[in-house]
Amino acid sequence: MAQTPRPRKALAAVEPYIPGRSAEEVMERFHLQHVTKLGSNENPLGPSPRIREAVIRALDRIHQYPDGESGRLARRLAERLKVRPEHLFFANGADNVLTCLGLAFLEVGDRVIVGAPTYTAYANLARLLGAVPVEVPLREWRFDVPAMVSASAGAKAVFVCNPNNPTGSILRQEELQTLVEQASPEALVVVDEAYAEWVDDPAFPNSIGLLRRHPNMVIVRTFSKIFGLAGLRVGYAIAAPEILGPLNQVREPFPVDRLAQAAAEASLDDDAYVRASFENNRAGREYLARALAALGLRPLPSQANFILVDLNQSAENVAQRLLARGVIIRPGALWGLPTWARITVGTPDQNAEVVNALAGVLTTR
Ligand code: PMP
Repeated sequence: MAQTPRPRKALAAVEPYIPGRSAEEVMERFHLQHVTKLGSNENPLGPSPRIREAVIRALDRIHQYPDGESGRLARRLAERLKVRPEHLFFANGADNVLTCLGLAFLEVGDRVIVGAPTYTAYANLARLLGAVPVEVPLREWRFDVPAMVSASAGAKAVFVCNPNNPTGSILRQEELQTLVEQASPEALVVVDEAYAEWVDDPAFPNSIGLLRRHPNMVIVRTFSKIFGLAGLRVGYAIAAPEILGPLNQVREPFPVDRLAQAAAEASLDDDAYVRASFENNRAGREYLARALAALGLRPLPSQANFILVDLNQSAENVAQRLLARGVIIRPGALWGLPTWARITVGTPDQNAEVVNALAGVLTTR
């Protein structure tokens, strides 16, 4: 047999990312006209009309390269966040920001501290680059800050997700402060706030305030969630110029396309959409928590746009049976939680649908 090129050895430890199922796939497989997609933490309100218009206007320029630095978007967002534009870095979704952080800072053999369970991208990125993820188990479903601080001695990076995917729990102001104050200043402290805009707990940290005193900190955020742009891919980092310099060295020349930049800018003017999304989520999260408890289940309290719940049986089986009813949720095996599932908060109709479908599936084995 002919030899083929051998991929990098580090890839032996890397699992391909398995996304939540797409609506298109489920409709085709089960011959459904309608699917309730609550597996990927998207904004259930659909695209805002203002953003649609902005994207359509931007179409006239797609023959020209976009601004590689997303400069206008940076200035607009900087105003809102009360930081300087030089403190912002944009990429093709928060996932791409994370990849750039890895490429810029991780060497082979570096230790990278992550919680467990948390967003799987951090450990995967470390493995991809030949670094070594060190998992620190959550305690009572919350990050164990003292254990993470101890583990971080000599580590190159600490990743926390706030609120945490998949648990929905938050690190409070004093906990994040302890983490950044006690972790080595030589370790990058990455605070992934992909879900920050859904939080209503006043104990949630003012991370930008902490950043001013801790230049080893990086905040990662996205337009995929409350701004409703998951399909366009815009994420960003807020950090000191010393961190952003290396990120700019490793990024692609044009990481955010024209349509995505136009949409993200327009979304900053669309307070009504963001407010409606927030209120829908807050009410839906309360409804789902109550309805799941009424089914005899144990949902975890969540500050995000999803709820993690123990189904007391194979979540993969339950998820498969829900698919046949046109409802997509995310079973927890990927986080080592085979009886748990993560359910995204939807519209009131979608929330009622998932609860009814679950009630049907859980009562008929
Ligand atoms: N961080 C976390 C915690 C996430 O859950 C996600 C979305 N799956 C991302 C980052 C990536 O977001 P984006 O769509 O901006 O790449």
